[in-house]
Amino acid sequence: MEPLLNYVGGKFVPARDERTREFLNPADNSVLGLATESDAADAAAAVAAARAAFDEGPWPATPPPERAARLFRLADLIEANAEEFSRRDTLNNGKPRREARFDAADTAACFRYYAGLATKPHGQTFELSDPNMTSMTVREPVGVCGQIIPWNYPLLMAAWKLAPALAAGNCCILKPSELTPWSAQLLFQLIDEVGFPPGAVQLLYGAGDPVGSALAASERVDKIAFTGGTATGRKIMQAATGNLKRVTLELGGKSPIVMFADVDPDVAVEYALFGIFAGQGEVCNAGSRLFLERALADKILPRLAAAAAKIAVGPGLDETSEMGPLVSRAHQQKVLGYIAGGREVGATLLTGGESYADHRAAGNFVPPTIFTDVPPDAKIWREEIFGPVLCVDTFETEEEAIRKANDTPYGLAGAVFTKDGSRAQRVIRRLRAGVTWINTFHFTFNEVPWGGFKMSGFGRELGPHGYDAYTEVKQITTHLAPAPLGWFRHLG
Ligand code: NDP
Repeated sequence: MEPLLNYVGGKFVPARDERTREFLNPADNSVLGLATESDAADAAAAVAAARAAFDEGPWPATPPPERAARLFRLADLIEANAEEFSRRDTLNNGKPRREARFDAADTAACFRYYAGLATKPHGQTFELSDPNMTSMTVREPVGVCGQIIPWNYPLLMAAWKLAPALAAGNCCILKPSELTPWSAQLLFQLIDEVGFPPGAVQLLYGAGDPVGSALAASERVDKIAFTGGTATGRKIMQAATGNLKRVTLELGGKSPIVMFADVDPDVAVEYALFGIFAGQGEVCNAGSRLFLERALADKILPRLAAAAAKIAVGPGLDETSEMGPLVSRAHQQKVLGYIAGGREVGATLLTGGESYADHRAAGNFVPPTIFTDVPPDAKIWREEIFGPVLCVDTFETEEEAIRKANDTPYGLAGAVFTKDGSRAQRVIRRLRAGVTWINTFHFTFNEVPWGGFKMSGFGRELGPHGYDAYTEVKQITTHLAPAPLGWFRHLG
């Protein structure tokens, strides 16, 4: 297979020194292909193309209906290629095929949502104290946007970044994770087929450092939108201080799910498993801390452990697999390290914990793992593991549940399960998290904002907030009857 290429100034091009990097299938660590490996000079070239397109090109001034038409066309093409997209993300990320199919459909829907939003009103008018003056605001694109995405949703995260940015008239540089470059190549082939003005949108392959870091530090980049780990988010924020570029960060979490005793045990068991084991737990909002009211814990814990052990773990391409491998050997080792650390500090392992010695040993599989009796200062309790590891605690009162749920530096997501509607509202209003659910979990809609409190980042993606984050607000104040002011006496 030819190496995957960057897309800069409307053309597919190799990195300058023609280095490449392999990308792998995490189900067996076989090589799937090669991607061109950029460096800081390639990043500068991509920034220059985007800069020229924004400062001198037609894209920012293209009428919104024309921008929308291109995004609608792109959505149609994504839909037509959904099977190939899902095959690539399953092979390259590891996720089960049904999840990758869901991502492909959601990607098309995301482009359609923002295509629609592009043509809707975005400004406001203001009544002023001076009747001769009127004022309005318009929303203008921020400019050149560097968009750095992780490996857990290779295609969908590209859509969350590109769709609102392009709808609002920005020029973009997308940097996928070096681990999962494959689906972005197909996306950019479709972008090329739709035909955006040269420089409106670039694809840049390469490592976080030097490529992502060059985007974050560049004084010619107006905004960085980042999804990934908290440590990297902190570095990006520091690098962005030079020109005080706009930064939005969607970082990790340690999200709580609180379940009261009135919940149907079947509902409780399935949602607890779905909350942590969907996407192998490599999900920013994964429900990794489960709080069960004591009476419910007594009822469901053995069932929860038994049901987790029965989850079908295997290659994502096998349609019977319900959980795939983790993205890389290094990440598998990190997650297994957390599990070993949990055992060392005396947490009770209910199920899972060991990697597989059978045919799955060649891949990066980790079984669904559940701990109880976790010391509150244990790493597995406090840190984002980003794998299939659930920590369970119990509570006696609503107050205790809220206190424990909020006892984390993160604040991305959270959920409460109860049949008592008032209690559900009370608890959810007090959860310090940006994305919350009552009696459900994980479901994410393009129409509503997504983002975290506390160390889970700031800024919002999706919904109208996600569009606004790619705009600057400009005030335009007009005098309705211009006349000399009489401010300077000598002018009479
Ligand atoms: P990173 O945060 O390092 O990766 C996310 C993206 O940032 C990738 O495109 C990466 O590039 C890029 N990147 C890395 N370093 C820099 C840098 N200095 N400047 C700019 N961009 C950079 O995630 P990891 O893969 O290292 O995972 C570490 C942990 O982060 C995980 O264990 C998990 O806890 C968390 N995480 C959270 C995610 C979320 O959705 N909130 C997603 C992924 C990880 P490249 O990969 O090519 O080096």
